Amino acid sequence: MKLLIKNGHVVDPANKIDDILDILIDANKISLVGKDIKASVDKTIDATKRIVMPGIIDMHVHLREPGREDKETIASGTLAALKGGITSVLAMPNTQIPIDCSQNLKLLKSIIKKTSHANVLIAAAITKARQGKELTEISQLKKEGILAITDDGASVDDERLMSEALKQAMKHKVLVICHCEDVSISKDGVINLGFISTRLGLRGVSCESEYRRVRRDIQLAEKLGASIHIAHVSCKESVEIIAKAKKKSLRLSAETAPHYFSFSEEDLLGYNTNMKVNPPLRSKEDVVEIKQGLKSGVIDVIASDHAPHTDNEKIIEFERAEFGAIGLETELAASITELVDQGILNWTQLVQKFTVNPAKILGIDRGTLGKGAIADIIIVDTEREWTVESKDFLSRSKNSPFIGRRLKGIVELTILNGKIAYNRC
Ligand SMILES: [Zn+2]
Repeated sequence: MKLLIKNGHVVDPANKIDDILDILIDANKISLVGKDIKASVDKTIDATKRIVMPGIIDMHVHLREPGREDKETIASGTLAALKGGITSVLAMPNTQIPIDCSQNLKLLKSIIKKTSHANVLIAAAITKARQGKELTEISQLKKEGILAITDDGASVDDERLMSEALKQAMKHKVLVICHCEDVSISKDGVINLGFISTRLGLRGVSCESEYRRVRRDIQLAEKLGASIHIAHVSCKESVEIIAKAKKKSLRLSAETAPHYFSFSEEDLLGYNTNMKVNPPLRSKEDVVEIKQGLKSGVIDVIASDHAPHTDNEKIIEFERAEFGAIGLETELAASITELVDQGILNWTQLVQKFTVNPAKILGIDRGTLGKGAIADIIIVDTEREWTVESKDFLSRSKNSPFIGRRLKGIVELTILNGKIAYNRC
């Protein structure tokens, strides 16, 4: 199968391309990028006035399978991903049957093989059952194909154990993703600590619970020379600590999620449980600093932290509702609306945070439109505005904080491995 994409505005930071060009795809690879390509092909796609970019690599996604298929499955989650322009996802290990041993990893791999619609990469747990007591078999899990380890949803409190995990990860070339939360500080909190939490009568979570742990994990990594990736950065102090550490050329990277630059704690005044996330939505000042962190490059990656929950877990009292929001189908549009349209990032910078940067951090050969690369490509109508509606989600859960919001930019076509995998029209 040969495909030709004509006249698109190609943004490919990996190859420093930002130009009106054609792309020729042969089988599953990119065979040529250039002006006025003439070739006999099976299908020509007109991409005039559209952005053409590598498929997004979302390195923080909860697919809930195995164990909670009522919330999401590999099948439904990857279909939602394709609709959002995401061709590769890193699946987090905190499933009901946790990815903490060979046997569970095999089970997950077999489900992915049978039902996945996109490229699913796997992160395993740092500790067994994510209890922070005993390390998983990192070398064995790596042999069986994991790319990263994380106890996401929890932080490893025990410093000695975390150091050991970092050493193991270094030895076996596995990325460590840090969920930074000191529960002795955040304990029982449900939203950001401050005036709003007092006004709503809800227990607060201070920024300190996050940035203290960010500082600790960076210090441990620094001491050992290990590389770490800080997940879902939400506050100003974390950005400052990461910025400082990066100046010392640490092998350190960080991500944030669209809800941390699209909403603040003030959006919680209506007790909307779809805005209940962990870490919590912070102050307006933090939102500004997160955007600045993206602009300056301190934050390398935008990831969704897609966290599906059923209505039964969300349409209940605020304090009892689960933490987390879905994000696969809105992350690109939210980023265009909040970052590109507001002049925070240009297109090259945005595409970098969605493609080359996560590819580099994970060590995978995707996120580029270079000749010979795997043809994961998306075509985006950047002018089209749409209102997010619950009924339109392909995700099995509907817990999006963006419901009712007007966003700009929509994915028209997703090409995965050289084949059209999603077509909006
Ligand atoms: Zn997560």
